Amino acid sequence: MDWVAGVAAIGAALLGPPEQTALPPAWQEIALRVAGPGRPDCTRYEVDGTAWPCLPRFTLDQSRAVNGWSRDGQIGFTRGAIERLTADEFALLAGHEIAHWYLGHNGSSRQAELAADRLGAQLACRAGYDVASGSNLFRFLHPDRHHPARATRIEAALRSGCQAEPGE
Ligand SMILES: [Zn+2]
Repeated sequence: MDWVAGVAAIGAALLGPPEQTALPPAWQEIALRVAGPGRPDCTRYEVDGTAWPCLPRFTLDQSRAVNGWSRDGQIGFTRGAIERLTADEFALLAGHEIAHWYLGHNGSSRQAELAADRLGAQLACRAGYDVASGSNLFRFLHPDRHHPARATRIEAALRSGCQAEPGE
């Protein structure tokens, strides 16, 4: 869980896990472009999980909220995200969630969120998306104790996008 973890947790408790379906092709294409050649330490995908996959698997759930999450190489987006975000905003959200996986994050902290914002902006920029325009994404942010303030996150994205190679 990520941006609106509290709301999502309540929904999961009441309704069970949201049904996951494939991300529609137009957004799958954006997410794959942002993911680039894949996780730096990947080997290849094995169904039994014995090797790190190189690219995440992207899914969609039907929530109306604008949200994304990342867990063990599976990255989910909400229907609200694909319906309400521009391509630049979605690319930045995808970059953030992909970055959590590339960076090996387990769980959320203010430091992890900023690191994912920075690498995510680099990934989105390298894929040809406009990070400044995409940072309007943060209008959907719900600040909480795990997440830095909106202005801090926008600054992290703007200062990182296109100014360094991914992974630096
Ligand atoms: Zn995050």
